[in-house]
Amino acid sequence: MKITVLGCSGGIGGGRQTTSLLVDDDILIDAGSGVIGLSLEQLVAIDHVFITHSHLDHILALPLLLDSVGAMRDRPVTVYAIDSVLTILRQHIFNWLVWPDFSEVPAERPYLRYAAIEAYQPVALAGRVVTALPANHTVPAVGYLLDSGAGSMVFSGDTGPNAALWDHANHVGNLKAVIVETAFPQDEHSLAEISKHLAPQSLVAELAQLQQDVPVYITHLKPGREQAIMGEIGELLTPGNMPQQLMPGQTFFL
Ligand SMILES: [Zn+2]
Ligand SMILES: [Zn+2]
Repeated sequence: MKITVLGCSGGIGGGRQTTSLLVDDDILIDAGSGVIGLSLEQLVAIDHVFITHSHLDHILALPLLLDSVGAMRDRPVTVYAIDSVLTILRQHIFNWLVWPDFSEVPAERPYLRYAAIEAYQPVALAGRVVTALPANHTVPAVGYLLDSGAGSMVFSGDTGPNAALWDHANHVGNLKAVIVETAFPQDEHSLAEISKHLAPQSLVAELAQLQQDVPVYITHLKPGREQAIMGEIGELLTPGNMPQQLMPGQTFFL
């Protein structure tokens, strides 16, 4: 299983792109602005889109993806999310006001199929297993566990403090890496608390709960504050435990 980071910023500007991971060539985890850099051929190949939550930075490319390549495909794209997130997408995006309801059109072959998932319920796709994990955010949200069989990666999605995530990660036998958000620098920690994100000190409290010795990658950093956030994390941790900043274009092989 190959995982390619399409976008991992908390915003845009200067080439920054928002959250999306490409798994092999046919699965997206979130559909932020990082998707926009894919070629038409790459967009046509996407069969499955797993959404963490309904915030715009995680879904903005989905309506455009469906409209751009729907007619070139011979089957719908399946959009997986927890039921409450699917309801938001139906009511607020694919509602004929913001965008057509592609789960109904074209009538003979809709471009979109919704699939409701639940936390801890694995979805197997040709040997790849995607499992939603709980998240603690201002709207209904999950993270994901991506498992090739040979190795697994935990992706936190957007989350504040989340003991359930670490409890699950500690029981993954083939865990190879963790991607966890740290959206704000410490001087904006009150914003992080209100918006249910992490800041360096709360990140360190989260990582103290991870009992597996695997590399940790930081995502969703606020544009322009990347150095501040990584520097503050560095001051709180010993060098051997220092996470790395997740980078666009970075690949993982599990
Ligand atoms: Zn969010
Ligand atoms: Zn976000």
